[in-house]
Amino acid sequence: LDALDARKRSLIERRAALGGGYRLFYRDPIEVVRGVGTHVFDEQGTDYLDAYNNVVSVGHCHPHVVEAVSRQAGMLNTHTRYLHETILDYSEALLAKLPAEIDRITYQCTGSEANDLAIRIARNYTGAEGIIVTSEAYHGNTDLVSGFSPSIGMGQELSPACRLLPTPDTHIHGDIAVGDFIVEQLKACIADLRANGIGFAGLLVDSIFSSDGICPGKAGWLKKVADTVHEEGGLVIADEVQPGFCRTGDAFWGFARHGFVPDIVTMGKPMANGIACSATAVRHEILDAFTANIPYFNTFAGNPVAMAAAKATLEVMDGEDLIGNARRIGSMFVSQLEGLAVGHPSIADVRGAGLYIGVEFDDPATGDPMGAETLALIEQMRQRRVLTSNCGAYGNILKIRTPLVFSAADVDRYMTALEDSLTALHI
Ligand code: PMP
Repeated sequence: LDALDARKRSLIERRAALGGGYRLFYRDPIEVVRGVGTHVFDEQGTDYLDAYNNVVSVGHCHPHVVEAVSRQAGMLNTHTRYLHETILDYSEALLAKLPAEIDRITYQCTGSEANDLAIRIARNYTGAEGIIVTSEAYHGNTDLVSGFSPSIGMGQELSPACRLLPTPDTHIHGDIAVGDFIVEQLKACIADLRANGIGFAGLLVDSIFSSDGICPGKAGWLKKVADTVHEEGGLVIADEVQPGFCRTGDAFWGFARHGFVPDIVTMGKPMANGIACSATAVRHEILDAFTANIPYFNTFAGNPVAMAAAKATLEVMDGEDLIGNARRIGSMFVSQLEGLAVGHPSIADVRGAGLYIGVEFDDPATGDPMGAETLALIEQMRQRRVLTSNCGAYGNILKIRTPLVFSAADVDRYMTALEDSLTALHI
């Protein structure tokens, strides 16, 4: 703290008012005041390349979204108890992107709320309690959902109705075997639930396994897992908070990469370019069974400003072919990272789908995960004004999750900073 300038020191001290839950990135934190496209700027006007933001999915302050939000904010913002056209226009456009079976959509404000509702809906429909997730999953912060978010760790207890699948790590299990392995583990989890008198309600799954360490695997492998869930009488809840909205470059949705149809789809982060907006899309018979008995209202959800932001964001995704950009720039990024790995034996694996990429660092001699070194690498990248992060059970996966408008020049800048950082750290 001593080395920081007086302004930064004062801002950090004033943050005490926010309580201990608020954690800053970086030993030398950054005060950000402005953003454009893939860049944010600090108070001195210094630019940083943002390779870690999937919320501003179409880029910081995209003019089309800014204009739509400003226009709507100056016109009306209220709840959903009145007729309003924008929510209907947007819902029709978004449902058209989903499989025909998923024909209802209900709005929330956060991914946590969407998953909370999804679990309640799945439990209501199946009459069962048990929910299976992966061992490092994060699905949100409500009382219900945090019980199914093992990555929170520390003092967070898991629900007695939670069972954990291992991370589907293709680096360990191989591309071919990972599907069969997870099916086998899923069956064991379901059997264990039942042995404890707990019925199986469903699988809650982020198909890019973001907090597990980014394990997209080959497109298609997850289908047999989804089929097994259905054979066992459960529902598949696809948590699209991370893989949805063009991210993987293969399809609009993460689950669509794998060629199965979920029963419930939850979404959030990238949906409205930073305006609070999330949703739960559901097959009508499943939602009807819930709403017949339980009213659901969410004060801020689906309000005209949020819907204007979401609609404008979707228009940019389509208009600028951001699935195509994620695919093209993502594959270019992966091949450059693979090239870099040739000269750096500590890079044990490069994997990703579209603009969601993980780079695994393991000790070349022992195979041990290099969590501390990966953290040091992120600090080095920050010194070179590139924002990126890490994830996985050991923190040894470099996490690259850029706005969808990332360019070839941005990849070059990232790669130069990465190479220089690896050299500085001798890894
Ligand atoms: N699901 C996944 C896969 C997430 O990554 C997150 C947030 N990191 C959430 C749900 C929760 O979303 P929110 O923070 O908007 O509540």
